[in-house]
Amino acid sequence: MELKVDQDRCLGCGVCVVSCPVNARISPENAGGAGSKTTETIMMVENGFIKLFSPDKCEECGTCQMFCPCDAIWLE
Ligand code: SF4
Ligand code: SF4
Repeated sequence: MELKVDQDRCLGCGVCVVSCPVNARISPENAGGAGSKTTETIMMVENGFIKLFSPDKCEECGTCQMFCPCDAIWLE
């Protein structure tokens, strides 16, 4: 499966970024909602929109997809 995002639907809330367990491992401050300090994370909100940096690190747990309020991130 592949991680997909649709910036047109994204609200920039950051819930997916915070809820991702892989992001939390790579950048622990992420889990506290302080924002990532590194582009080594799978995805981040940049200029108000979700942006994928390292989708290859995704472990396909589905958490981001489950929490996104507007179906702007999903596994396909
Ligand atoms: S599906 Fe991938 S990007 Fe989404 S929360 Fe899980 S590991 Fe993170
Ligand atoms: S993809 Fe969804 S959960 Fe992630 S920042 Fe955008 S609206 Fe929020």
